[in-house]
Amino acid sequence: MQQQPIILVFYQNLRFHDQPLLLEVLQHTQPIIPIFINDPKVIERLGEASQWWLYQSIRAFKQQWKSAYNIELILRTGDSVRVLQQLLQETNANKIYLGKRYTKLEREIDERIYEELNRDGITIKFFNTHLLFEPANIKNQQGNSFQIFTPFWKTCLTKTIEADLPAPDHIFNGYNQPINSDDLSDWKWGHSQAAWTRKLANHWHLSELAALNKLAIFLKNSLAGYNNNRDLIASPSFSSQLSPYLRWGQISAKKIFNEVIHTMERDPTIQQDGNTFLKEIGWREFSYYLLYHHPSMQEVPLNKRFQDFPYENNLSLLEKWQKGTTGFPIIDAGMRQLWLEGWMPNRLRMIVASFLIKDLLINWQFGQAWFIDTLVDADPANNANSWQWVAGCGTDASPYFRIFNPITQGKKFDSEGKYIRKYVPELKDLPTKYIHQPWEMPITLQEEYNVIIGKDYPHPIVDHTIQKNKALDCWKEFKGKGYLAG
Ligand SMILES: Cc1cc2nc3c(=O)[nH]c(=O)nc-3n(C[C@H](O)[C@H](O)[C@H](O)COP(=O)(O)OP(=O)(O)OC[C@H]3O[C@@H](n4cnc5c(N)ncnc54)[C@H](O)[C@@H]3O)c2cc1C
Repeated sequence: MQQQPIILVFYQNLRFHDQPLLLEVLQHTQPIIPIFINDPKVIERLGEASQWWLYQSIRAFKQQWKSAYNIELILRTGDSVRVLQQLLQETNANKIYLGKRYTKLEREIDERIYEELNRDGITIKFFNTHLLFEPANIKNQQGNSFQIFTPFWKTCLTKTIEADLPAPDHIFNGYNQPINSDDLSDWKWGHSQAAWTRKLANHWHLSELAALNKLAIFLKNSLAGYNNNRDLIASPSFSSQLSPYLRWGQISAKKIFNEVIHTMERDPTIQQDGNTFLKEIGWREFSYYLLYHHPSMQEVPLNKRFQDFPYENNLSLLEKWQKGTTGFPIIDAGMRQLWLEGWMPNRLRMIVASFLIKDLLINWQFGQAWFIDTLVDADPANNANSWQWVAGCGTDASPYFRIFNPITQGKKFDSEGKYIRKYVPELKDLPTKYIHQPWEMPITLQEEYNVIIGKDYPHPIVDHTIQKNKALDCWKEFKGKGYLAG
């Protein structure tokens, strides 16, 4: 008779390298049953771009299991606890290993798994597959949690980061009895009805190998210079573009961290670039840390007083922002890249977020929701923390009165308008002098370049200077009422 199997649950850890679940399996001789659970409560919360990414990644991961170990990745649909309960009964498994998760909903589900199934000789173990550090383990000298990034990251850097594990070359035993599995093509997630997600395939290769290659190419070609170049949005390789792979665990944060350290050891001239890059990985850690300590971070401002901020929430302006038809070329280029590719550089994310919140006086949560739907890297922690940062309502936020000027930001980070020309093709032939302010072009030039403002490209939907002053007045009045005191 075959030994009792171990169930391995995969969700946002779709990889073989640095996979503690597999390391743990090596301690035993038992056969394994890897599974992905299509829990509607979890999947429905994802945006369409994330559903698209996850769906394709499951397919790639299933093939990897088959080709590397000749084992089926089982697919099942339903409430996670019930699915696992059923599988325990069917297979007589006695262990379940899972990757730890951090959103409120996922934590509740994982707690239920533990409470309801960790009995009758069943062992349930959760492993940190997603972060460098467990949020609960990082505390200040008083034993409290950090609110500010810099001391948090300094403390993290005093801790040892373990070596990441290579993909095991061990032969795993599969469970030798037939087990029912759904057919992936029967999973009709929201994205399958949304034609727009299909074009994302033109921009991304989705697999663990693609993620590892992307890291290697970035370290070879772009880490040197990262400190200065990462905001230069017109250059295609200014940043790693690893964010969706990190979100879905096709690459581990530990793997990235250690590879960067090794690269820095080999080349002492890139210390600053390396440290700046590691700091960004640190911001990701901090976002998860905040989410862990403030599970409602996606729904409410961390600074509760901002709950009453007098946003105007004009939905027609929101739609123009979403569609990239604001009449501000840099904003429109960013929003159109997002729609085309499911991704946008960090600098652009900051500019469009500031524009939405401050120029249009729209609550950051509308922006967060649009990003959740359209970003392939839509991350519950990074997205919420970054929106709160721009809105000035996070724990360690940019102050509300810091308002980006979309014209000067465009001139500074896309000086020749290369990025704008790529994503707003109706402006591609404009002289550089007008690329950031096409409305200033004399009518004769508008005719010459076939871009009549108001017809071929919109007038700016707001006057930045007026809106900036209005936003500042709102803030002063709000502050004057004592909302921000204390
Ligand atoms: C309004 C707004 C919303 C955002 N939403 C998301 C989101 O949903 N998902 C997401 O992963 N990032 C988000 N970010 C953070 C950042 O813009 C992206 O992580 C980054 O642009 C991803 O590109 P990259 O992988 O090339 O980054 P790189 O510069 O190569 O950085 C490497 C990794 O570090 C992490 N990182 C980089 N910058 C940040 C940051 N500011 N905060 C937290 N982690 C960071 C990411 O995991 C990234 O992949 C948001 C930023 C803003 C301003």
